[in-house]
Amino acid sequence: MPRPIQATIHTQALAHNLNVARRHAPDARVWAVVKANAYGHGIERAFAGLRGADGFALLDLAEAQRVRDLGWRGPVLLLEGVFEQRDLELCSRLDLWHTVHCEQQIDMLATHKTNVPQRVFLKMNSGMNRLGFRPAQYRSAWTRLNALPQVDEISHMTHFSDADGPAGIERQMAVFETATQDLPGERSVSNSAAVLRHAGVPAASDWVRPGIAVYGSAPDHPEHTAAHWGLQPSMTLQAKVIAVQALQAGDSVGYGSSFVADQPMRVGVVACGYADGYPRICPTGTPVLVDGVRSRTLGRVSMDMLSVDLTQLPDAGQGSTVTLWGRAHNGAVQSIDEVAALAGTLAYELMCALAPRVPVGVSE
Ligand SMILES: *Cc1c(COP(=O)(O)O)cnc(C)c1O
Repeated sequence: MPRPIQATIHTQALAHNLNVARRHAPDARVWAVVKANAYGHGIERAFAGLRGADGFALLDLAEAQRVRDLGWRGPVLLLEGVFEQRDLELCSRLDLWHTVHCEQQIDMLATHKTNVPQRVFLKMNSGMNRLGFRPAQYRSAWTRLNALPQVDEISHMTHFSDADGPAGIERQMAVFETATQDLPGERSVSNSAAVLRHAGVPAASDWVRPGIAVYGSAPDHPEHTAAHWGLQPSMTLQAKVIAVQALQAGDSVGYGSSFVADQPMRVGVVACGYADGYPRICPTGTPVLVDGVRSRTLGRVSMDMLSVDLTQLPDAGQGSTVTLWGRAHNGAVQSIDEVAALAGTLAYELMCALAPRVPVGVSE
């Protein structure tokens, strides 16, 4: 028997969350962002829930190929554009739209041999200082692109640094609007946080680009929870209790004896550790669901196991199912955002770090 650990991808939750994004941006078309193997969900699995999207946005050419292999004929956007000249041939062959964020990418396009002009998204650095042309250089980049026979429609795009926090998007939005106002073409500006928190503010947004919200995590946790936004978990991580220990007062649990019982306790040892993608840094007290009932971890997370408190759960024992995040059989939800926060990180990182050794299934 394989180790009793399992991740499950919920395709109906993905479809539901995509619709939540749509409801917040009813006039926009929606890119489902599926970079990083669909935030760790697996592109093929995620596709089953996200085929209602208007397009798929990602970074990796091999992932773009996989989306085409699934039979998707609609738009596919490379969010970082091409990395070398020959990538443009794949763009032509697979009909990929691509971001243009630097002069070198325009140079590559200018020498690309194609009869079919390509659709590009010209990226502005409106303040994040990662990718894109500065506002002062944006117009000349657009003029250069617009003169190329290799280029079809040019859309305008930027990315927000603070859509999830108090600084908001107004400053970047003003920069973007000023620099693009009389240029033709569609606009794409909003990630999940902007879609949910700033609905209606980016008036001229033809395409939105939600990622994390589609995967059921609140982009602005802990200010808001996934439940607040009506998002459902799309990934569940579960494992079984494989041993039970009866502790006396003074007994400790795990490496470093970091947890010491101050009374008699029952402890369940669970077949999930940091080598499965559960963060080692999660402290004693990190919430879990045992057979759908909330409990907590005890002591240090080790490579293949962690321990949970069964003291208040007399019916739980060997074979009980522990939900580390996601949905339990009784419908109870363990928020991945809550676990991530206790690990000092975000649900993005936990989803992407689900280890290859964990078997992944799909449910509706
Ligand atoms: C990852 C990414 C997104 C999606 O961001 P979320 O915070 O997951 O919604 C949108 N746009 C770009 C350019 C990205 O790289």
